[in-house]
Amino acid sequence: MVARRGEDPRTLPGETSLRIIMRRLREIMAEEGDGQEKLDRIVRQISGVMVAEVCSIYLKRQDGSLELFASEGLNPTAVHTTRLKRGEGLVGRCAELGVTVNEPEASSHPAFSYRPETGEDVYHSLLAVPIERSGQILGVLDIQNRASKEYSDEDIEVLQATAMVIAENLVSGAVAGAGPAIEVSRSQPTVIEGEPLSDGIALGHVVLHEPRIVVTQLMSDNPVLEIERLDKALVKLQDHIDEMFEHEQLSAAGEHRDVLEAYRMFAHDKGWHRRLREAVEGGLTAEAAVERVQNAMRNRMLRQHDTYWRERQRDLDDLSDRLMRVLAGRLTSADDESMMPPDTILIARTMGPAELLDYDRTKLRGLVVEDGSSQSHVAIVAKALGIAAIGQAAGVVERVNAGDAAIVDAVTGEVHLRPSAEVISAYSDKVRFRARKQKRYQTLRDRAAVTKDGVRISVHMNAGLIVDMPHLLESGADGVGLYRTELQFMLSDNFPRLDKQTQLYRSVLKEAGNRPVIFRTLDIGGDKVLPYLRQPSEENPAMGWRAIRMALDRPELFRLQVRAMMKAAEGAELRIMIPMVSAAFEMGAIRALVEKEKTFLKKHGYTLPSAILLGAMLEVPALLFELDAFLPRVDFVSVGSNDLLQFMFAADRTNARVASRFDVLSPAPLRALKTLVKAAKKYKVPVTVCGEMAGRPIEAMTLIGLGLRSVSMAPASIGPVKAMILSLNAEKITDCVDALLKEGAKDVRLHLQQFAEKEGVEIDG
Ligand code: PEP
Ligand code: MG
Repeated sequence: MVARRGEDPRTLPGETSLRIIMRRLREIMAEEGDGQEKLDRIVRQISGVMVAEVCSIYLKRQDGSLELFASEGLNPTAVHTTRLKRGEGLVGRCAELGVTVNEPEASSHPAFSYRPETGEDVYHSLLAVPIERSGQILGVLDIQNRASKEYSDEDIEVLQATAMVIAENLVSGAVAGAGPAIEVSRSQPTVIEGEPLSDGIALGHVVLHEPRIVVTQLMSDNPVLEIERLDKALVKLQDHIDEMFEHEQLSAAGEHRDVLEAYRMFAHDKGWHRRLREAVEGGLTAEAAVERVQNAMRNRMLRQHDTYWRERQRDLDDLSDRLMRVLAGRLTSADDESMMPPDTILIARTMGPAELLDYDRTKLRGLVVEDGSSQSHVAIVAKALGIAAIGQAAGVVERVNAGDAAIVDAVTGEVHLRPSAEVISAYSDKVRFRARKQKRYQTLRDRAAVTKDGVRISVHMNAGLIVDMPHLLESGADGVGLYRTELQFMLSDNFPRLDKQTQLYRSVLKEAGNRPVIFRTLDIGGDKVLPYLRQPSEENPAMGWRAIRMALDRPELFRLQVRAMMKAAEGAELRIMIPMVSAAFEMGAIRALVEKEKTFLKKHGYTLPSAILLGAMLEVPALLFELDAFLPRVDFVSVGSNDLLQFMFAADRTNARVASRFDVLSPAPLRALKTLVKAAKKYKVPVTVCGEMAGRPIEAMTLIGLGLRSVSMAPASIGPVKAMILSLNAEKITDCVDALLKEGAKDVRLHLQQFAEKEGVEIDG
């Protein structure tokens, strides 16, 4: 667009409105004068260049109201007098929803709020854009005209770019002194509520998983060079995303996959490239162009009242951030360990288990993710590492700066950003209190988990890394009920060879001493991905080619793993557990493979394990309907309630929106477990539950009520679950659960909580 005001003597021929405004803003910022004077000059310039009779700036006050801070065209007496309550009028709506308002007949709009002191009744059309910095609304910039007209897309883009520069200057303090300080929520203490993923309380300092690149230079001196930088970055971004897609590193998980599809779509989108180039041609640096186009597109998407578009907006944010990092040459914080303080609180929009394992564990204290559910593997890995973690912390990335102090309270699910001294001190007390409680749990360490009426419950530990093994003695667990072998594979750069695997299993057995260990064979797929293992792209990887399915189709990997386990357990008992069994006949095929390995090792003169127990995980509901065929084929069963529930309720465990929608303490899953327990008794097959539910005292109590006598859980849960068992009467809980199931009670959880309270059962966590 060519400037429409030829009378400005400083306008260069052919110069676009955007460039003129940008140039003038730069001059104004460099000129003498206080903040107010600068804002006054800005509105004057914009009104001139955009041929608008009015141009105003409203800024947000601490209470959320908007104050008219500067205006060209409205009555000067209205400046600092007119205040709009949060969400009031079209301008308030622009700020509240972060959307652009383009109204040809503003005064007849139902949301219009008339303020006589402004004298604005004569202006019909209004274009208002939010003044926004990194997702935070600081105010509103608007223009008004007498004529009733809809503003063009070009007008919108020019005003949005201008608002961005104003935002930048407000945040940097370049227009400081223009009335009350601009409240920037990234500098105030803030509490964000999420859902606990891994128990604990952590105090520390923030590291952003994907570092935010702060745009420090908005205007470029050489647009041609900037275009080159942008083009190169776009190519790199596309390559990077194509590569991710090809290698299927992230696409194995449902949610990640969607994000990747969107990335790919946007990364190759010609419209996006054109907008970016236009913004650079208009005088912005490549980084500023990314941010501006991101804001503009975000506004447009938010205007669509459709959740699809809101989700796509998040994808676009991710992609823009990624492009920004490509421009700055940094991808994730794990690439640069010097950025990690010794008390790191890691904050991410989304994170897979392998990404978490990329970080130096000795420095990680806490983790906060914007998505994530308690049964996702990142939660499981966080638990294994003993990191306090919170998921579903909406908006946390936008509200935090790298280096901020933060407290992760994974007991309540709260994240405290930039906490005050009082909050820090209260939490230090809490941590001390928890330490005392841990001490009490330690006193239970050597006590067998026996209920008040003398029923012995086996309490096992889940593990997956050799660093977990010391917890076995510390927690007093009876053994390792689930050793997730894939975690070690995820840490490796290539497929671990036989020797390496043997060595690892040997050390696990050695650390366990005489306590039993159940090794689960590889469960790759779903959100567990091996970067070096090519897997075909799948629509639903959790229900795809994973675990036993891979083992049966490609027995080499499975046989290698079993061979390593057998060699490691020479002369001792070996327990192997198969994940994701869906039909009884599969166990027959697996047993045949195990037998083959036995024969092979015997033939080559190796000492075999003294006994090999072959068990299966019950994670697929179909198995519940052929228990008579399945149970005689296994030596033990362990219920993987995380997967069982996701398949039973058809609710993706990695999708925070649906993962906690259904309660495990409800009739359907409890009846399923009851059926299993009954059948297993008949076939004399031991049953354990090793999914996340077993580690929560109230759920573990219910499992005992269903007749289970063995549970396996993350090390941190052992103390609380043992304390629960020692205070429980098994007969009473059995009667209570029976009655609830018979009645088909509605609020099962509530009844169970009431039972625990009445009976004095120690339920903590
Ligand atoms: C489960 O599904 O409950 C389970 C224990 O296995 P994982 O969480 O590793 O899938
Ligand atoms: Mg599972």
